[in-house]
Amino acid sequence: MADYIECKNLKDLKTEMMTCTMCGFCKSVCPAFENTGWDRGVARGRMVLSYGLMQKEIPADKSVIEALYQCTTCKDCERRCPSKVRVVDVVESARRDLVAAGNILPQHEKVVKNILQFGNPFGEEKSVPETLGQVPKKAKVGYFVGCTSAYRNTSTAKATISILTKLGEDFTLVNEVCCGSVMQRVGWSDADVAAQMQKNIDAITAQGVETVVFSCAGCYRMFKEEYPKYVEVPFKVLHISEYLDTKDLPLAALKKKVTYHDPCHLGRHAGVYKAPRNVLAKIPEIEFKEMARNSATSRCCGGGGGVRSAYPDLSAQIAADRVEEASFADILVTSCPFCVNNLKVGKDQCKSDVEIVDLVELVESLL
Ligand code: SF4
Ligand code: SF4
Repeated sequence: MADYIECKNLKDLKTEMMTCTMCGFCKSVCPAFENTGWDRGVARGRMVLSYGLMQKEIPADKSVIEALYQCTTCKDCERRCPSKVRVVDVVESARRDLVAAGNILPQHEKVVKNILQFGNPFGEEKSVPETLGQVPKKAKVGYFVGCTSAYRNTSTAKATISILTKLGEDFTLVNEVCCGSVMQRVGWSDADVAAQMQKNIDAITAQGVETVVFSCAGCYRMFKEEYPKYVEVPFKVLHISEYLDTKDLPLAALKKKVTYHDPCHLGRHAGVYKAPRNVLAKIPEIEFKEMARNSATSRCCGGGGGVRSAYPDLSAQIAADRVEEASFADILVTSCPFCVNNLKVGKDQCKSDVEIVDLVELVESLL
């Protein structure tokens, strides 16, 4: 029998949950709801469940946990919501209360324990610079690689390093640990997330870095939007697309139809829409066309919020739906290794011919 739990975090958002008018506008945009079809799998259902948890009217049973963890935290419902309910804050607060009461999903627990022990979600023993064969030094520009590009999508890390080198930048890799995004998304304690943040701030400042460049949308969003809520950030934070937007790039021509997928972390969460498009516009002869849902209305890839590790089938179906929207293009570009990975899963699922590439890898190949 499932327990009724204490909801210390949700109590701070009581007004937020009560602001939901049950209008159902969020049903038209939620990628999880599109695939589950149940009201508990859309923002308004999640508001009702969270309120019920907080009031101890609903126990933390399997169906409640599933509903709250099948949200990709894409934030599209917040854009659509006439009452501007902070859905993602409520969902993540509910998750913190669930985890505090011992209800963490086993897939998430393994990842968090790896981060706490090894500094990365994969349990890799080498540091990020070491695994990429780099020696950190003092420099004004630092490249924060992020765990996925450092240990799995190494082509993205290598492309970014190559671009910075070709542009003559005096840069260094930083002595980074996981940015804390996964911990925060799945509801791990604020204290441990803040400690993770402080480790990165201390390491980066010790290297004298004044500007940090990110190729991962998730890490960038953390430093730009989340870190300032917990720690002082004494340096400039740039996504690689913002950095490249300011540069004169002598790129080779590309006669292909190209479209762009906005990562939720970079777009709706951090407001960066123009920079990656400006970078693509620097490529001679490119034929760029937007997908029907783009920029603020972009569709989620299905990989975020811990959904990919806990509910891989749902995550893959959301990704396949997104890839099908790009069927007119030769290349689907995005700017986040996590989106690249999940869209590739979706591409296999829907048997699409579209090539999926990270922006930095495309730019590097033409520079
Ligand atoms: S954040 Fe995204 S997945 Fe979560 S309820 Fe809102 S639209 Fe659905
Ligand atoms: S759109 Fe906003 S107010 Fe309407 S049901 Fe969804 S969360 Fe509630």
